[in-house]
Amino acid sequence: MEKIDFSENAAAWIGKTIRGFLDNSKENTLKDEKNKRAWADPLVGFSNGADPLYQEFKRHIGSFYWTPTEAFAKAFPHIKVLPDELTVISWVLPQTEETKRVSRKETVYPSENWARARIFGEAVNVRLRQHVVETLTVSGYNAVAPQLSPLWEEKRSERYGDASTWSERHAAYAAGLGTFGLSDGLITPRGKAIRCGSVVAEIEIPASGRPYSESHEYCLFRTQGICGRCIPRCPVDAIDEAGHNKVKCRDHIFRVTAKHVRSHYGFEGYGCGLCQVAVPCESKIPKPSDLE
Ligand code: SF4
Ligand code: SF4
Repeated sequence: MEKIDFSENAAAWIGKTIRGFLDNSKENTLKDEKNKRAWADPLVGFSNGADPLYQEFKRHIGSFYWTPTEAFAKAFPHIKVLPDELTVISWVLPQTEETKRVSRKETVYPSENWARARIFGEAVNVRLRQHVVETLTVSGYNAVAPQLSPLWEEKRSERYGDASTWSERHAAYAAGLGTFGLSDGLITPRGKAIRCGSVVAEIEIPASGRPYSESHEYCLFRTQGICGRCIPRCPVDAIDEAGHNKVKCRDHIFRVTAKHVRSHYGFEGYGCGLCQVAVPCESKIPKPSDLE
């Protein structure tokens, strides 16, 4: 297929594709009675497939972790590409103001909005990944959403415990969209109450660049030893000064909140995210003055 040449405008074109889907598609909904919007205005960023950070992720997380080239090769085993011929397109989907407002009041279980965002909102994110892949494909660019690959798997990292072959948050970090917090969430300019997505494409788009040099730069506790407001937000003590206990967290989400969502909200789901709201990094990059 002949490629449509977007030359200098590829980044704007992709940004418009993502925003257009969220603004105009009837799919961006929590699937409640009022069909409330699932996600607010997104952030979009780009990293290059040859970014050394991807090799670093592999070294730190485990040999099972895919570089963009490996993720691309899973979908297109017969196409030879050089790492720098690939771009990782990443986005951040912020929770809506209403979802954050109702979730701030919760202390044990997710609000209905939050649980809906986790299930139906993530379904929107799946459709968004497919939409970006389809849009690129019909314009002549090979593209894949690693998270949707049938080969994507959860894995165990010696260093970090629960892990997977591709992490949307790590791709977003590489694209300059945010840094990690004490509770492992990604703190972005729109805050930490977010979800991420990504697509790897054979297209040339300049990398966005990272306005940080360290993986926890936006977290006040990790950098300055202050804040820690996410610690008491966790109903099962899964966060402490050492970081995030993924086992306790998963246990609460899948064993406890699933029952609550079924019995109180009437659908099969789960979720928590209490550590992502009512904290200084909820909706922005926090400053020490936010603690006053
Ligand atoms: S609440 Fe404070 S300590 Fe926790 S992740 Fe946010 S900035 Fe870091
Ligand atoms: S998501 Fe919930 S259970 Fe997990 S660390 Fe955050 S507050 Fe705790």
